[in-house]
Amino acid sequence: MEKCSNCGRVIGKLEQAFIFCENVVCGECDLRLRKQIKASIPTAPSYSPSRLKTDSPDTALIIISFLIPLAGIIIGAIYCSKPKQADKKTGESCLIWAVIGIVSCILFCALLFN
Ligand SMILES: [Zn+2]
Repeated sequence: MEKCSNCGRVIGKLEQAFIFCENVVCGECDLRLRKQIKASIPTAPSYSPSRLKTDSPDTALIIISFLIPLAGIIIGAIYCSKPKQADKKTGESCLIWAVIGIVSCILFCALLFN
């Protein structure tokens, strides 16, 4: 005789036992658990990548901004004029890193010619 590992109910001989995540469960629990999984799976993968995109500005663009400040200012200006909040953030980061790039370039030149 088998027992449902979810609700603890004894699964009768005439009843069909289901396997859920390698556990024996009754029909009701199987249905309920599958519904839960279905409800949680589609939201999770689509949620994390979109979060990543909005939270972290484009790293490649920031590196370019730092190495080539002029390009960074242009990229920053373009992105800042975009309507999307994420793009604006990327633009701001590009402008900031472009300024850091210019400042470090000036410092480097000052050190070189001293
Ligand atoms: Zn059950």
